[in-house]
Amino acid sequence: YQNEEISVPDYTETALITDAFNKMLSRMKTLDESRNEFVSNVSHELKTPLTSMKVLADSLVGQEGVPEELYQEFMSDITAEIDRENKIITDLLSLVKLDKKAADLNVEHLNINQLLEDILKRLRPIADKRHIDLILDSFRPVEADVDEVKFTLAISNLVENGIKYNVDDGWVRVTLDADHKYFYVKVADSGMGIPEESIGRIFERFYRVDKSHSKEIGGTGLGLAITRSAVTKHHGNIQVESKEGEGTTFTVRIPLSYIP
Ligand code: ADP
Repeated sequence: YQNEEISVPDYTETALITDAFNKMLSRMKTLDESRNEFVSNVSHELKTPLTSMKVLADSLVGQEGVPEELYQEFMSDITAEIDRENKIITDLLSLVKLDKKAADLNVEHLNINQLLEDILKRLRPIADKRHIDLILDSFRPVEADVDEVKFTLAISNLVENGIKYNVDDGWVRVTLDADHKYFYVKVADSGMGIPEESIGRIFERFYRVDKSHSKEIGGTGLGLAITRSAVTKHHGNIQVESKEGEGTTFTVRIPLSYIP
């Protein structure tokens, strides 16, 4: 038995351990706080459409002789609020699924040019309504390992935003390029841009630059959080550049081969 092998921690070691312990505690506190904040945000977001529906329904219940036109108007407002509630829940479920540790990617070797074409084809009717040009520039054929559903969700959200936060007669340009290791999808638009002070926050859940405006154009504030989460799952990253009044460009970079 060699006594000198049991070393009593000296002062610096004790200080280091205490420091590490305090750091861990503060991290746990932050996690707890951000979870509470998330739950309170979710509750708030889900309650808003419910409150509107309640007000609309209450003003019809028990009322006799409501003019047909007014009745129709209230009913269509209620339907719009139901759609909104539905969109929030769908987005939340996508996000929760993506955030799960066990949520593995269902990776396949796919033609990315084709996937982007399909995304634009699906969104073209929405863009056409506001005469927004959807352009696809593919610099080369790209095949890569992606989860079709999650990749499509990530890029669709960016293109949808490019349309939503655009001006009538504007454009959204999707560019595909690759090098020997990564492929790059750029989604650029001619829209309103993002104020500098908001750029750092747009990927946060429920964050919207202009709440009332976003509500008008049908945002939940979850789209970019979903996109970032899906891109990160592919071991990729996403960057944004924007200038108010000129437009925004998101660049997604994803490795060509997936290593779990
Ligand atoms: P939302 O559902 O509100 O669109 P997102 O998470 O997709 O939520 O985006 C968060 C916010 O970032 C939006 O509310 C909007 O203010 C801003 N934003 C996102 N994309 C763009 C864009 N292409 N141009 C201008 N603003 C954008």
